[in-house]
Amino acid sequence: MVHGSRNSRPLLRPRVHRGRPHLGRVRCRGRNQGGRPGPEPPGQGAARPPPSGGSIVRRRVGPGEDRRSPHPAFLEHEAPDRILLARSVWTGVDPALGPLRDAAVAIQGDRIVAVGPRDRVLGRRGPRTVIVDLGPGAILPGFVDAHVHLQAGGLDLYRVDLRGLRSRDEFLMRIRDRVGMAAPGSWILGGGWDHHGWGGTLPRREWLDEAAPSNPVFLLRTDLHVGVASTEALRLAGVDSSTPDPDRGTLDRDPATGELTGILRERALELISAVIPPPTEGERAGALQAAALHALRHGVTQVHDMGALQSSGESWASLEALRGLHAEGKLPIRVSVAVPLEDRMRLAHWVAEVGGGDERLRWGAVKAFVDGSLGADTAWFLEDYAHLPGHRGGPITDLDELRHGLEEASALGLQPIVHAIGDAANAWLVEVYEGLCRRYAGRDQRLRIEHAQHLNRDTIARMGVPGMIVSMQPAHLTDDGPWAESRIGPGRAEGAYAIRSLLEAGARPAFGSDWTVAPLDPRAALRAAVTRRITGVGEPGAWGPSQRLELGEALRAHTLDAARAAFLEGETGSLEPGKRADLAIARQCPFTLSPEALISDLEIRATFVDGALAWQDDADPLR
Ligand SMILES: [Zn+2]
Repeated sequence: MVHGSRNSRPLLRPRVHRGRPHLGRVRCRGRNQGGRPGPEPPGQGAARPPPSGGSIVRRRVGPGEDRRSPHPAFLEHEAPDRILLARSVWTGVDPALGPLRDAAVAIQGDRIVAVGPRDRVLGRRGPRTVIVDLGPGAILPGFVDAHVHLQAGGLDLYRVDLRGLRSRDEFLMRIRDRVGMAAPGSWILGGGWDHHGWGGTLPRREWLDEAAPSNPVFLLRTDLHVGVASTEALRLAGVDSSTPDPDRGTLDRDPATGELTGILRERALELISAVIPPPTEGERAGALQAAALHALRHGVTQVHDMGALQSSGESWASLEALRGLHAEGKLPIRVSVAVPLEDRMRLAHWVAEVGGGDERLRWGAVKAFVDGSLGADTAWFLEDYAHLPGHRGGPITDLDELRHGLEEASALGLQPIVHAIGDAANAWLVEVYEGLCRRYAGRDQRLRIEHAQHLNRDTIARMGVPGMIVSMQPAHLTDDGPWAESRIGPGRAEGAYAIRSLLEAGARPAFGSDWTVAPLDPRAALRAAVTRRITGVGEPGAWGPSQRLELGEALRAHTLDAARAAFLEGETGSLEPGKRADLAIARQCPFTLSPEALISDLEIRATFVDGALAWQDDADPLR
């Protein structure tokens, strides 16, 4: 994980929308109350921020004119503010096409006004147009990360990072390092550990007590469904061996003594998280800004924030902090926020009162879970786990309640976003979604399935309909690949991360990272989707090579099709005249790199959001 370095900082702050109230002007996409029959054309009715220093004349769209046209006529009359020249420009419009060679992108205000051959685009230059030659670099649409936990990711930039550890000693050393910087008694928090990295022994509270004798410690496993707490953390939470397992949660106990091992699963995690002091307002805003900067450094211009885990209060507090940052012009990326499904009424009232936000910060989606994770044996399967006869996992929530909640959310015009990992969880969810598609036929609902990791043939076919969005995180297959087959067996492995099959069934998968569960880095998803390479112990191999994507298909899933998951494909996700100028500038063209090298050799040099330079590598600034 890269922490903020002095070499990299946001250069230009996004424009402040002073005196332009941005709330209440834009309807939440997908809301269709009040008898409006069809879907709203994407990109219409948007509150556009004023272009810098320009005097663009806004035309009203007259009757009979095509409101969907991405080529507003007013853009034709003025010279671009900036023209970027590059050896390669990948527009993302057609995944089957490679990049344009020796091409250019012209930007005026917050919009792209021209894309194409250099000569043609340069022909539009005016006396004040700035020309930036990117040399051998590439211009790509800004990446869209369709699944992040933004505040948690930002906070984790300051926490103990336990990813990729190979031994118990390394694990303890990381904790000791942090204890050395912490005040006595303050909480040591972090995550990312995976016991498969050191042979499969789960950590115990005694390990943490040894590394941090005078601080409470709570460390989440990489999947966030399991955690380990120190004895002091358990004491502060009032949890001991006499505490019963909570509903849908487990406190692991030593089979010999009955004492707690410190491992907590699923809802038992809430016993500890409830006593950890929440971040202060300043810490929260700082974490969100650090998270946004972290995204920009990776060429990510838009994220879909799944909210805080296991905490409704934190999700709302985070959304409130994002609104504050946006109002001050300090939100440099686009964020679409989900809050927990249980808060659907509150969200619906709020949307009715203030609207659904604008194209920089929007809300109107609700997040829920069907099951847990494969790594924690809590993903819900139709048949037994291969290594645990008699165990199929199961829903981590009451299914009748969940179904009712989703139906109600849909009726309220909110977008459901639901976590489903195992084949049974996905089959259940698809059935519920099919019901919603029938009930609201003709409405553009975009019912989201998050992860969709293990699918049977029938479910794959049923997901390929326009009303559903399959949101996947291919980098997880790199993590799961080395051990997944021992849990699900070879038969079910065929339906694991079945991205190619989903495409063939008509689905348009949206890619994301699941940061902070996995690193925020689109290159990891591209590499995983294109190579299916796993990096386990021993010889690296490919997991499910028949499910490989072409690079263009993978890029599209991480740009335009991810934007589509948040109803933003009319405004963002590809390089087309009339769209917002959200760009990732890379030093190399990804199509010239070997897929294996994408993760290391594709370097982001600068990132534009709404036509403004939002971040650049200070060691190699744009000229
Ligand atoms: Zn997640």
